[in-house]
Amino acid sequence: MTAATTPQESRLEVWIDQGLCTGDGICAQYAPEVFELDVDGLAYVKGDDGELLHTPGTAVLVPLVAAKDVIDSANECPGDCIHVRRQDDGVEVYGPDAST
Ligand code: SF4
Repeated sequence: MTAATTPQESRLEVWIDQGLCTGDGICAQYAPEVFELDVDGLAYVKGDDGELLHTPGTAVLVPLVAAKDVIDSANECPGDCIHVRRQDDGVEVYGPDAST
């Protein structure tokens, strides 16, 4: 049996508010393809080329294979500073500004 095709859902984007990051590295452990700690001890999202994006508020598209790990990171982030939003309308769906 082949897997059913799920309806197309909005892709997710993620950004980090470094002002609240504690530097514990949970996100980088969960989703190292998306998050990494820099030498300043804070976590940043990565671009497609693996470079860390230092401009505050910069969001990246979440790879589909990493979506669960990114969501888990947002849910467990001690700094409450990982923001996951829908790409199509920008609504935060996981993170401190997500509506319950
Ligand atoms: S889990 Fe949150 S507080 Fe911890 S390093 Fe990642 S962004 Fe910073």
